[in-house]
Amino acid sequence: MKKNGRSKKDRAGLIPITTTKEWKLLYFQHGRPGLEEGSEFIGLCRYCELRDICAISKPESGVWRCKYYKASVRKKTNLYENVTRQLEIAEDIVHFDRDICKILAETMNELIVHFPVKMDDGNVKMLTGYRVQHNNSLGPYKGGLRFHPLVDIDEIRALATLMTWKSAITNIPFGGAKGGIQIDPVDFSFEELEKITRRFTFALGNNIGPEYDIPAPDVNTNPQIMAWILDTYISTVAPNERNRCIHVVTGKPIESGGSQGRNKATGQGVVFLIEKWAKDHGFNLKGATYMVQGFGNVGSWVARLMKKKGSKLIAVEDVTGAILNKEGIDADDLAEYVKEHGGVLDYPKAKPINHENFLGTKVDIFIPAALENQITAETAELLNVKLVAEGANGPTDPEGDKVLQRRKIDVIPDILCNSGGVIVSYFEWLQNKRSEFWDLEEVDRKLHKKIIDAYERVLETAKKFRIDLRTAAHIVAISRLEIVYTERGIFP
Ligand code: NAD
Repeated sequence: MKKNGRSKKDRAGLIPITTTKEWKLLYFQHGRPGLEEGSEFIGLCRYCELRDICAISKPESGVWRCKYYKASVRKKTNLYENVTRQLEIAEDIVHFDRDICKILAETMNELIVHFPVKMDDGNVKMLTGYRVQHNNSLGPYKGGLRFHPLVDIDEIRALATLMTWKSAITNIPFGGAKGGIQIDPVDFSFEELEKITRRFTFALGNNIGPEYDIPAPDVNTNPQIMAWILDTYISTVAPNERNRCIHVVTGKPIESGGSQGRNKATGQGVVFLIEKWAKDHGFNLKGATYMVQGFGNVGSWVARLMKKKGSKLIAVEDVTGAILNKEGIDADDLAEYVKEHGGVLDYPKAKPINHENFLGTKVDIFIPAALENQITAETAELLNVKLVAEGANGPTDPEGDKVLQRRKIDVIPDILCNSGGVIVSYFEWLQNKRSEFWDLEEVDRKLHKKIIDAYERVLETAKKFRIDLRTAAHIVAISRLEIVYTERGIFP
């Protein structure tokens, strides 16, 4: 059957999607966006970026998802290109040593593993996982592990590079790495996820290690996943080594060697920086309004901590949809709801809105805390905010950045803004190595100092060169790496 010159098979066969318009044409045939004969329109898709015009389904797992989301892989913009571009922007301002820039423009090691896992029904599934190690000149490779259907090598390269910058800006003795498995966790049972995590850890073997490369949680991974990695890793070393390897992962459950305050650390760091920005701008956070994209670890913690400052949460968007309540949304109540229902959709104390309306909501502060490339040249025009505090990695692309600058919207850039996670991971790693346990007050105090010191360094650089904070943050990071390379030279 042909529609608009395209066969049904073409669609199922993942044809290249060039424009959103093309899909509109295709699906508006049915009279309602995203509605195929016999299917029921139940909400907006957030996986495929085609927003409200694609057909989505609610599988048994209860999470809504576009039937064609895999097709959108082709539409994905390349985060790695953006990250490389940002390095070039910094290079143009401070003429760093060209050889050192050549080194930093590449990742050091890239590992792709294909591994089998036996599913609950007895079938074997082959899965693909990645670990990219960008740079370890400042210390062991360090970076999160992401479970997401759109994970690919370029995304992991980009995220690994951002980790190197983050560790360098915050003056912690780590390099940068990132990993991921190309899966959607909602497709698997708890037992299957355990097997996947353990088999992936086994496949990585000695490519991770407490003094070599230390994973942590990221999108769709959590302390439980870290506990499985820890257990698998220590089960493969000699018995007398096991208790010396507990710092092979950070973001572990407290009982398994995790740190107080690690779970909220990224969100806490974001809020410390928002407070600092507010203080510097004479802006009162009490009564200020904000919206959050992504209500997982980072987004929900930011929302709950901003509530304590007396600020008002007006709109929230996650993978299931977007909601708005101008009178305010109670972040703790919403967190309870999301825990139970898997997303913000149908939250009874707010009304549903579409993606464009979410972005256009008038608030003081916007915290993107979901995925990359959300703020583009197009969407940056929609924003009606004073500050973007980037909880997510890479939420703004270079074109979006230009628009934010032109529109005089302040930005606390990702590599500074969300560095609270890696800072407290460093604290966890230290506590494990020294067999110490710090209390929450100590962790928070040390986090505050580290992240505010980093902010001051970035601000000073921005003032010196009269540049934006993102470029300044890159300059701070690269300068530190340049010193180390210059002192040590290049072997042999
Ligand atoms: P998470 O899995 O806990 O939460 C992700 C959230 O994003 C969920 O609410 C999900 O529904 C939402 N989401 C996913 N796709 C979306 C889409 N297309 N539109 C809107 N919402 C969408 O992940 P997290 O750990 O909170 O990470 C969020 C971001 O913060 C990522 O960019 C991650 O790399 C970054 N980050 C996380 C940490 C950390 O410590 N967890 C540290 C630094 C940076």
